[in-house]
Amino acid sequence: MSEYIKSLMAEVKAKNPSEPEFHQAVEEVADSLDLVLERHPEYRSARMLERMIEPERVLMFRVPWMDDQGKIQVNRGFRIEMNSAIGPYKGGLRFHPSVNLGILKFLAFEQVFKNSLTTLPMGGGKGGSDFDPKGKSDNEVMRFCQSFMTELQRHIGPETDVPAGDIGVGGREIGFLFGQYKRLRNEFTGVLTGKGLNWGGSLIRPEATGYGAVYFAAEMLATRNETLDGRICLVSGSGNVAQYTVEKINALGGKAVTLSDSGGYIYDQAGITDEKLAFVMELKNLRRGRIKEYADKFPNVVYTATDASAGFNPLWNHKAECAFPSATQNEINAKDAQNLLENGVYVVSEGANMPTVLDGVKHFLDAGILYGPAKAANAGGVAVSGLEMTQNSMRLPWTREEVDNRLKQIMHDIHETCMTMAERFETPGNYVNGANIGGFLKVADAMMDQGLV
Ligand code: NDP
Repeated sequence: MSEYIKSLMAEVKAKNPSEPEFHQAVEEVADSLDLVLERHPEYRSARMLERMIEPERVLMFRVPWMDDQGKIQVNRGFRIEMNSAIGPYKGGLRFHPSVNLGILKFLAFEQVFKNSLTTLPMGGGKGGSDFDPKGKSDNEVMRFCQSFMTELQRHIGPETDVPAGDIGVGGREIGFLFGQYKRLRNEFTGVLTGKGLNWGGSLIRPEATGYGAVYFAAEMLATRNETLDGRICLVSGSGNVAQYTVEKINALGGKAVTLSDSGGYIYDQAGITDEKLAFVMELKNLRRGRIKEYADKFPNVVYTATDASAGFNPLWNHKAECAFPSATQNEINAKDAQNLLENGVYVVSEGANMPTVLDGVKHFLDAGILYGPAKAANAGGVAVSGLEMTQNSMRLPWTREEVDNRLKQIMHDIHETCMTMAERFETPGNYVNGANIGGFLKVADAMMDQGLV
């Protein structure tokens, strides 16, 4: 790490205290850009990285709502409008009790580079709340979403800022949010993506992040003339991303053997077939139950409860060739990364955002495995959100096949960009550098063109 990046990081930490996830995301990008900034002093003198680190706008607001017992509840709402150099702010909303400013800033920062990589005209943003939809009734979730949107609607719009889902925000929440936006603004527009199919949503949007992460893994394997056929895959999480990751792994002939939630994980050596996956989808999307029930339902499945004191996650300690972390940030620590490598994993395609700690990333890079970082590997979700925006503007929906083909092409192009950029900046095969540099250059050049704004 150069002296310049070291002093930049010291400043980031001093200016943004108590935001470790944000520091981590910035450090990873800054590290990748060292050689770019050396070769292109114009970016450095324009203080490009310093400007990208500072959000264009941060919104924080009170979200009061009433629960089913008539008690008043108060949550905190956020929207980080990070960068609009190449398009309207775009990025999901997360509802989870762990949500805070630092986590959303890390997600918004990542989103800028990811959106740039998709080849579509989208800036970066992220938002959400510390509201926990788990255990709440549909009516409580609706009242919360209505209150949240009552404030957010002033700041967003189809040409300004277009939110989508993330952890805790799925079809149900997007519906409530969209309904309230339409009611307050008296306009039916593509202000949110991930909408229902009957009211402006795109086919393949629910599938897009998981499918995309598997397409990216297939692209990486193709560089070694290999495919996913017959590969054993570890998948974490059991929400939107994990479910469609498993579906696509099955379609390409692989075998997924794990799924998890915050309570624990299941190991099914026989493989999570499409029939078993249908059970998971019903369990998680309709009944909103726990993954433990999978082990009660099917024979020869081992359920292991989460043990926070263990220092590692046993899910990552099974024999396999591929890993698809699809739950949350920092779910693979340095020990987990070592366990994965020792168990034979040589393909990691990140469905979750920043699921691997920096030391874990280093283990993967040192081992020379096919490591697809989140910005590249999970960009399929936002890419199809971009395609949803296009269809909304045209007022014309595309077929499933048309959207899926475009998704596949976009994942192919992202892979190509990563490879080319890694090669150009002297680290061939390093997808982390490739993604960070590819994402940076497009945004930086747009910012140069637009002057000091
Ligand atoms: P969901 O809410 O649908 O599912 C999240 C899953 O991860 C659940 O199984 C949840 O378990 C588990 N999980 C969440 N937080 C934790 C935690 N702290 N510890 C253990 N398990 C946890 O979210 P998504 O599938 O949409 O998102 C998963 C990841 O993918 C996130 O990192 C998100 O940012 C990323 N992502 C999502 C995109 C999308 O299109 N949805 C696009 C790009 C990235 P439990 O129910 O017990 O909390």
